[in-house]
Amino acid sequence: MSLDRRQFLLAALASPALAARQRDTAPLLDRGFARVTQFAPGVYVTIADSAKGPQCASNGGVLAGRDRVLIIEGHMQPAGAALEIEVARMVSKAAVRGAVDTHFHLDHTFGNIAYAEQRIPILAHEKVTTLMKEQYAALKGADKAPLLAPHEKKLAQAADGTDKKRKEVDLATWKWMYDAIDAGTLAYPNELLATADLPKRIDLGGMTAVIEFHPGHTATDVIVRVPEHDLVFAGDLLFNHSYPVALDADMIAWRKVLDRFAGYSRRTRFVPGHGAVCGRETVAHQSALFDDLRAHAEKMIRAGASVDEAERRYAVPQRFQGYGLHSWDFTVGAAMRSYFTKLSAPLPVSNVRISPTI
Ligand SMILES: [Zn+2]
Repeated sequence: MSLDRRQFLLAALASPALAARQRDTAPLLDRGFARVTQFAPGVYVTIADSAKGPQCASNGGVLAGRDRVLIIEGHMQPAGAALEIEVARMVSKAAVRGAVDTHFHLDHTFGNIAYAEQRIPILAHEKVTTLMKEQYAALKGADKAPLLAPHEKKLAQAADGTDKKRKEVDLATWKWMYDAIDAGTLAYPNELLATADLPKRIDLGGMTAVIEFHPGHTATDVIVRVPEHDLVFAGDLLFNHSYPVALDADMIAWRKVLDRFAGYSRRTRFVPGHGAVCGRETVAHQSALFDDLRAHAEKMIRAGASVDEAERRYAVPQRFQGYGLHSWDFTVGAAMRSYFTKLSAPLPVSNVRISPTI
């Protein structure tokens, strides 16, 4: 992209002012584990800070129209969802239309019980309940030793010091997830959104929430667009300044979703699943990161490497050195598994033996 001198000067002048304004925005609520600020009239954004507590663990928000209020995200714990209810009640007397889970992952649904207790409808893609049952409910109270065994084996077989350190974090992350599953009380969505019925427009009174289905991070991803304010709640389809968690991802489908985001108006602001509110530049960074992961996967496939080897041999490029990394397995490893599944092509035609009798 090239800027002429005038545009460049304007951009240089505007950015610090914008940054200062964002910094100075007094929060509506600041609980440490999450900070709620007003983004626009009736629009409130919740930015989680997991370092200060696991209650939210993912971003969310509240859309308060004239007639109805919509909450976004089920968060990790009931206290996270309770914060959104508190915001909704603080800023509006209108009825709460519902809370949207952007996908089935535990850090976006395990707080749902707080909504259920208040009889607030929980909206999510139709596959969310099934996946919560399969991946979480089925494991509650179950013996986790057989599930942890493969990760313990990988740790015992670590190739070197770096690999060992990563595998230790991986094992700890799996344990953290299983502990959260055992501790959580699940509440399933009760307003399931069929793929065929999406996008769904919800008129809140002077403000519209448009729920769109864009699978990629999982098979259940929905985003909430607020056209009046050029705002998109992107769920985990967007991670700001960190490697994307890809355990349930189709990396190739997800990359196409990022292309779609890149085509939105330049004024668009995104509330990512994790990290600060951002613009299209963050979409570009994440796309570049995906392209780097894919290029590595392709190189490894061509070299005949195993998927585990591809995971081990990935090197974080200089430009992404400062990025967060949830665990090597949840991010790089999972991305490699997705690419290997999709890109490991059948034998080229020239190598296929054709029977002379046919
Ligand atoms: Zn997720």
